[in-house]
Amino acid sequence: MVTLNVVVNLYEEQCINCGIVFHMPMGFHANRKRDKRAFHCPNGHAQHYTRTTEDELREQLAAKDGELRRVSIERDDYSMNVERLRRRLARKK
Ligand SMILES: [Zn+2]
Repeated sequence: MVTLNVVVNLYEEQCINCGIVFHMPMGFHANRKRDKRAFHCPNGHAQHYTRTTEDELREQLAAKDGELRRVSIERDDYSMNVERLRRRLARKK
């Protein structure tokens, strides 16, 4: 008798139709994300990814760029307010 201990990394997914949680090999998942071809849940519901990993990363990058611009504007506003207060304080001395 031979016992093998094998580690398989699986991606967890939830069916968009019936909600069942199922797993697929990471390579299979990566291929479906890239080629957007259909795959099926254990209950036979066909589904496919509409965005590649690159699409998701581009969206995340765009969101971070927007956040960075917003924070930069807030920083500039804050700096202008600090400068304005310093000038007012200097006039009162
Ligand atoms: Zn299903």
